[in-house]
Amino acid sequence: MTASPFTTLERELGAVVGAQHVSPPAISDLEDATRWTGLRGNADAVVRPGNAEQVAAAVRWCYDHDMPITVRGGGTGLSGGAVPEGGIVLSLERLNRIRTMEPEWWRCEVEAGVTTEALQRRVREAGLRYPPDPGAGEVSHIGGNLATNAGGPHAFGHGVTRAWVLGVEAVLAPGELVHLGGPTRKDVAGYDLTSLLVGSEGTLGVITAAWLRLIPPPGAEQTVIGLFPSLASAQAGIGGALTCGAVPVALELLDGGALQDAGATLPVQDAAAEWSHLTDPTHAAVLIAHLEGDLAEATAARGDALVDTWQEAGATWTAVPSAASSSALATWRDSVSGAVAARRGGKLSEDVAVPTDRVAELLEGSAAIARRHGLEHAAWGHAGDGNLHCSFLLDPTSPERRAQAADAADELFSLAIALGGTISGEHGLGRLKSGHLSAQWDPAAVAAHQAIKAALDPKGLLNPGRKVA
Ligand SMILES: Cc1cc2nc3c(=O)[nH]c(=O)nc-3n(C[C@H](O)[C@H](O)[C@H](O)COP(=O)(O)OP(=O)(O)OC[C@H]3O[C@@H](n4cnc5c(N)ncnc54)[C@H](O)[C@@H]3O)c2cc1C
Repeated sequence: MTASPFTTLERELGAVVGAQHVSPPAISDLEDATRWTGLRGNADAVVRPGNAEQVAAAVRWCYDHDMPITVRGGGTGLSGGAVPEGGIVLSLERLNRIRTMEPEWWRCEVEAGVTTEALQRRVREAGLRYPPDPGAGEVSHIGGNLATNAGGPHAFGHGVTRAWVLGVEAVLAPGELVHLGGPTRKDVAGYDLTSLLVGSEGTLGVITAAWLRLIPPPGAEQTVIGLFPSLASAQAGIGGALTCGAVPVALELLDGGALQDAGATLPVQDAAAEWSHLTDPTHAAVLIAHLEGDLAEATAARGDALVDTWQEAGATWTAVPSAASSSALATWRDSVSGAVAARRGGKLSEDVAVPTDRVAELLEGSAAIARRHGLEHAAWGHAGDGNLHCSFLLDPTSPERRAQAADAADELFSLAIALGGTISGEHGLGRLKSGHLSAQWDPAAVAAHQAIKAALDPKGLLNPGRKVA
């Protein structure tokens, strides 16, 4: 009798990582945060190496046996990138050590399976700050953040994950452990392979650890809110925030559709701030800016300048909330996605990005697309980066609604490209947007992607079908 695929895997990969760390996949290993779409993959086994050398040995075994590998971090991805299509799931959850924390040198070395929030907490305890703040930080891994080049609200002022990576340790095909960069802050000796791996969605190599840059926390912070009657005035508010000297590090937007759902969950903590204005969904948009500085007085003056600018831009209401209310407001902002999904039970939320001066056009166009398809619409996100989560609300149990939303999303991608933007500003292409690259990139640029993939993964076993379809 021949051994089943799992028995062979268990024996041979068990010898590499320990038998107890190879198991048949559970349903949670076959899904990510796109599970509401019904997307569920299949795999022969889940392999959980305990260190980088074991990752290298597991990749080598897979390469020798033509076995596809889907790398898995925290599984919070919103494009199906960690959803396997056969082969093994290579889960990095056991690589969860912070190898070095060197606050005196503003750097640390972290294994891929450390959660974003765990790292941020350790960095805070060390008196410093790691600014990238993607929304699912309690669950997402640093390795997943690097693989998707994750953003978040403060990416506007501080840059996306890539800006904080000094170097990566990674396993390249057919199973070689390499160190690209390291604790050194500058290095132009070779091609920028570190940056190539960051954002590669597990298609070029397996990131096992990273050296990250840290900074001191700000001495003072200020939040400013402005409510705008039209998308045109909100666009003027975005432009004004950039030119008035306020220098926000985060500039977030919720449109009227998002306010309709999220307004009901608003934390009312500061009576003077008249929060109730925010619950009025007849407004076209609310902008929330976060300012950081060294000195409280100077930072407050920048906040005042922003209030004046927003009033000139047509804001019907502005406020500078207290520190406690600002913190509650940030938590509320994080809950918007769930509040919007609750209206119809589900939503197709995209992550398109356009040049910052074209945000209003994107929002108007996206809402018009939704109307044409008979869908409700809401949008929110990182206005300073022109990166908006345009969302089509739907009953996820209705195949007809899901098909309508998918058609609407295709039109949204065309709109974003026509506005000079991108089909993905944050979540990557994963499985859901696989094949769309050629809609945005010139043929020669797509060919360059394919050449890079072929050079680094000649057998095409690393996250097959993602990014470069
Ligand atoms: C509520 C919510 C809010 C979110 N907010 C944001 C946000 O503000 N900004 C943002 O950018 N994203 C956001 N996301 C999306 C998601 O959290 C990020 O893409 C995150 O970086 C994914 O990390 P992960 O560890 O969960 O990766 P996974 O979902 O496990 O994997 C994502 C991709 O990376 C690959 N991968 C994972 N680990 C590695 C590794 N070590 N080496 C190589 N490849 C690897 C996987 O194969 C897959 O292709 C949000 C998601 C949710 C559910």
